[in-house]
Amino acid sequence: MARYIGPVCKLCRRENLKLFLKGDRCYSDKCAFDRRPYPPGQHGQGRIKFSEYGVRLREKQKVRRMYGVFERQFRRYFEAADAQKGVTGENLLRYLERRLDSVVYRLGFAATRSEARQLVRHNHVLVNGKRVNIPSYLTRVKDTISIREKSRQIARIAESMEAVERRGAVSRLELDKPSFSGSVKSFPARDDVTMPIQEQLIVEFYSR
Ligand code: SF4
Repeated sequence: MARYIGPVCKLCRRENLKLFLKGDRCYSDKCAFDRRPYPPGQHGQGRIKFSEYGVRLREKQKVRRMYGVFERQFRRYFEAADAQKGVTGENLLRYLERRLDSVVYRLGFAATRSEARQLVRHNHVLVNGKRVNIPSYLTRVKDTISIREKSRQIARIAESMEAVERRGAVSRLELDKPSFSGSVKSFPARDDVTMPIQEQLIVEFYSR
């Protein structure tokens, strides 16, 4: 399963937004975006004017990078969202939020989505008591997501759980810290996504 392994701070600088891809570092004064809040590259500090297409492309790339999803899968989510009833943009965000790596991150078992993805891939995560090692697994209401008993001693998981409050709790997920588990109370709502996203621009990008 492919994943992005290049420099991630450049992505925040490119998208002109903190995407919080590096866990603790994002909250420290070492954050590259705070230090250099302009796009990377020789002409990064020059005047940048996006075309209408460019604005939509950047919005799509921003969300894709935020959730660590490659283009092909992102487009599949869009097609599925478009085929569903309701507002396509919101359906798309709902798919992204339902992903298992996203839920593991939101519950606080990992400091970033990529770390969450690794926990899932390395068999540390159970869904309803059964091992699931597919980061794109779509969680459902009443699912219980937990950390395998053997893996609960991993220091990184405990550290992440300590720091979960600063990321802001998601009301649709209920975390039970002592048992290293959390449950899904409802499907994601638009308000659960607090990052500044204009999903309509993504819909326009794919509908052009
Ligand atoms: Fe982005 Fe800053 Fe985190 Fe790097 S440290 S990933 S620039 S938010």
